[in-house]
Amino acid sequence: MRIPLVAANWKMNGNKAFAERFFSDFDLQAIAAHVVVCPPFPYIPLVSQVAEDRERFSVGAQNLSQESSGAYTGEISAEMLLDWNARYVIIGHSERRSLYGETSELVAKKFVVAQQAGLIPILCVGETLQEREQERTLEVIANQLKAVSDIIESDTWKHSVVAYEPVWAIGTGKTATPEEAQDVHQFIRGELGNVGEQIQILYGGSVKSANASALFAQADIDGALVGGASLDAKEFAAICRAA
Ligand code: 13P
Repeated sequence: MRIPLVAANWKMNGNKAFAERFFSDFDLQAIAAHVVVCPPFPYIPLVSQVAEDRERFSVGAQNLSQESSGAYTGEISAEMLLDWNARYVIIGHSERRSLYGETSELVAKKFVVAQQAGLIPILCVGETLQEREQERTLEVIANQLKAVSDIIESDTWKHSVVAYEPVWAIGTGKTATPEEAQDVHQFIRGELGNVGEQIQILYGGSVKSANASALFAQADIDGALVGGASLDAKEFAAICRAA
């Protein structure tokens, strides 16, 4: 039995006042899902404080370094995130892959470093519009997953979350239909081997309260990774309630 999980990716949005206000507006009542909020790094301590008081609520980071310490200006290590009581970390978001040149090999290294430190990686995979049009969606996703599978023991997947985020659906208002998303989720679960049934697979890309229920009704969609709509506490709570 997989517990639904809904994660907020605030990306590089908000400020201290926003983070404080968010939690006075966010009502966990009637939410059965586990909720994770991933703010920008400086607000992780603030969100951690809130997380401590609430059951089924965790804080996550949006990225981490593949190195544990050293001369890596501007980087943040897994241990530093743990010091801030982060429990999850988003790895390989398409914005990191496309804007910051993160390859699947680097993403895989970060996945391992996060897991070894005791963080739960939320591994993002997904195809571009061009790749979908060329009917390469499953091949692209298989390769993104394989980069990780190649360097971990297969049952290690079970201490992770996978997020399917079609790049063409991120921030565009276009969502995959529930059936399109389900097909890919089912494929991902198959690729995760004998622990696939235990892993939470989230959908991400223009999720809002109006489309969340139909997505969550699919057999292999266990929740969502929410960008834009997670910046509105009431809207985000409505998505969480749908899970
Ligand atoms: P949007 O929900 O804004 O489309 O972003 C999705 C996303 O990238 C979450 O990581």
